[in-house]
Amino acid sequence: MVEESIYDVVIIGAGPGGMSAALYLSRSNLKVLMLEKGAPGGQILNTDVIENYIGASSTDAHELASTMYQQSVKFGAEYRYGDVTAINKEGDIFLVETRQDSHKAKTVLVATGTEHRKLGVSGEEEFSGRGVSYCATCDGAFFKDKEIVVVGGGDSALESALYLTQFGNVRLIHRRDSYRAEPYLQEQVKKNDKIVELMDTEIDEINSSDGKSVTSVLLNNHLEGYDVEVDVQGVFINIGQNPQTSFIPKEVATSHSGHIVVNELYETSVEGLYAIGDVIDRDVRQVANAVGDGSMVADYIYKHLNKL
Ligand code: NAP
Repeated sequence: MVEESIYDVVIIGAGPGGMSAALYLSRSNLKVLMLEKGAPGGQILNTDVIENYIGASSTDAHELASTMYQQSVKFGAEYRYGDVTAINKEGDIFLVETRQDSHKAKTVLVATGTEHRKLGVSGEEEFSGRGVSYCATCDGAFFKDKEIVVVGGGDSALESALYLTQFGNVRLIHRRDSYRAEPYLQEQVKKNDKIVELMDTEIDEINSSDGKSVTSVLLNNHLEGYDVEVDVQGVFINIGQNPQTSFIPKEVATSHSGHIVVNELYETSVEGLYAIGDVIDRDVRQVANAVGDGSMVADYIYKHLNKL
């Protein structure tokens, strides 16, 4: 009888955090499986250039993701497609269920990051992929010489606005009178004459005159109290992220925002279940943090496994 293999660690999510952990764990001779439902890279695939990851100055984000992936599997970590639906624990062994199969593991590391938050206005869902997008680097090229709006006031929105100026004129729409994006990006936006900033403004509706794709948005300036219909073809929504945790056991503690609560060893409230990166409850969400988490949690998991 062939014994079913049990992984030392199943890592869910191949973003910078998950890939960093896979690298360190496999170099410790552990049996590691990394599961990813999209492409390796996570959120960095939504940007074009990474400028604030030390040692990789002005680096193409897709190239960085690809280098990270190659390095993460170089020392024996397995990589598979897998959309995880549940994590169950039977005795000391975890069963990680995907839509296709299941995998046994002594420990599980959740590194699933976040997914785009929705605006929730009329037309958003209907015209998603037909003018409405959440990823400037994925879809920007469809809007050459078009009118574009970007919604949001964080790093993602300002980066998107700057990136999209190569294709068309950009209106940057933010609901307050100040951004939360880092000052450097704010300066770049102010200097760029292809970006018009509309503060204290929100999108009330995304409309289409032909029913096929976006042709206008209804803007509401709540300071001056006016509504105006503006002709646009592209609507990029970058209003933050929600943690991807639909599959975690109900015993895992989460914050009011749904992020996973961990202690200083990245342990969740379920023994043997760890979490790192953007999915955990903290304020700073940077590639550097996720990568650092990956190296540290690898050491904590290694020590935990040695005690079993
Ligand atoms: P974020 O920092 O949470 O910013 C979200 C923005 O969207 C805020 O300005 C918020 O407005 C606005 N917003 C939220 N809900 C809204 C709604 N319903 N309608 C209109 N506006 C709404 O999100 P993010 O920019 O995606 O960044 C997420 C994390 O990743 C952050 O920690 C960020 O620093 C990091 N990140 C870093 C980089 C980088 O270092 N290059 C790049 C991208 C992201 P309020 O300000 O009024 O709340």
